Amino acid sequence: MTEVEAFLTHGRLADGRLIDIGISGGIVVVGEGAASRSNSAPALDIRGDLVLPGLVDGHMHLDKTLTGLPWMGHAAGPTRMSRIETDKTILPHLPLSTEERAGNLIRECVARGTTHLRTHVDIDLESGLAKLDGVVAARERYRDRVTVQIVAFPQSGVMRCPGVLDLLDAAVRNGADLVGGIDPLEIDRDPKGQLDGIFGIAERHGVELDIHLHEPGEMGLFNVQEICARTKALGLGGKVTISHGFCLGGITESKAAKAAETMTDAGVALVTHGAGGLIMPPIETLRAAGVLVFAGNDDIRDTWSPYGTADLLERAAIIGWKGDFRRDAEVEVAFDLISAAGAQALGIGDYGVTVGASADLFTIAASCVPEAVAAHPPRKLVFFGGNVVARHGSFLPVPVPLASEASA
Ligand SMILES: [Zn+2]
Repeated sequence: MTEVEAFLTHGRLADGRLIDIGISGGIVVVGEGAASRSNSAPALDIRGDLVLPGLVDGHMHLDKTLTGLPWMGHAAGPTRMSRIETDKTILPHLPLSTEERAGNLIRECVARGTTHLRTHVDIDLESGLAKLDGVVAARERYRDRVTVQIVAFPQSGVMRCPGVLDLLDAAVRNGADLVGGIDPLEIDRDPKGQLDGIFGIAERHGVELDIHLHEPGEMGLFNVQEICARTKALGLGGKVTISHGFCLGGITESKAAKAAETMTDAGVALVTHGAGGLIMPPIETLRAAGVLVFAGNDDIRDTWSPYGTADLLERAAIIGWKGDFRRDAEVEVAFDLISAAGAQALGIGDYGVTVGASADLFTIAASCVPEAVAAHPPRKLVFFGGNVVARHGSFLPVPVPLASEASA
């Protein structure tokens, strides 16, 4: 048996069992009852606090955040196009760089128990790959606290901005993990052009796709079908996500159920943030049909929205509140969206509070998952790869091995 470096004792699992968790080399190596703790490795008694797997933020915009700056009132007008254009006048002139702001937000996420995240990063004619470079640098700086997947995101459009397809291709060659897209009809007025272009990049480089779809009703549904058709034709099932998919909440129930079947058949996932002022997709209908649904915070105090705290448990509560999830089993669904379902979508294999998984965990003063979601008290300890990376809601400047924390 692997030598245990340190124990976290009297932790409560989501199913209520009290266990000791042994960690070695950043991996959970022991997870049985307290009586199994037989060697003299240091032990930290967490006295029945809930131990949950690190949270997965499936949709963020690290490059747009204003985190770390003095408060700035929302400057954009009420339309999506106004926000797109306002970004170009504000973001280049902020006193903090993309790398600094992204790093500030990463620290906020880690302090709240996030251990894995997927961020979209704007790729446009005005800024080229500059924002990508900043977020890649922040990812590198915090690689021992959190994993970061980057989507090369054509925020301003693809076909209406000739040259962006080449930039997206370059972004994938320069650190982006996925290629993105946006509203092929509403923004580009050329769904075939945009989807052929971005699916072509994904095929050439063997990367996944994550496409923003804000389009309402039948317009959005048309593009859901187009995305599913291409995914199926190219054998990309399991590698394509639709972000938002507000249209699924704005069509009839029977059409939404049919769209869910189409998505399941194609292997297209959906990520939601609860929809802001818009209609949330029917999460239960989609899950019942077999669609992989996960969640993310989306904008967090940025040029698109003054709201957001980086707390995924709070986000799960917002989704549950909006979806009228009241019973424990329903609140547990909201938690699944920000944990196991997100891990599956992001391809994180060694996930969970279980022997053999990476020790990416957090502890919280709650008796069960529904209480953790509904009350979302501060995270007591956050672990990444077996090291403590945040304590009592505060990010630690240097990760602390569990053995040092236990003997302190
Ligand atoms: Zn977004």
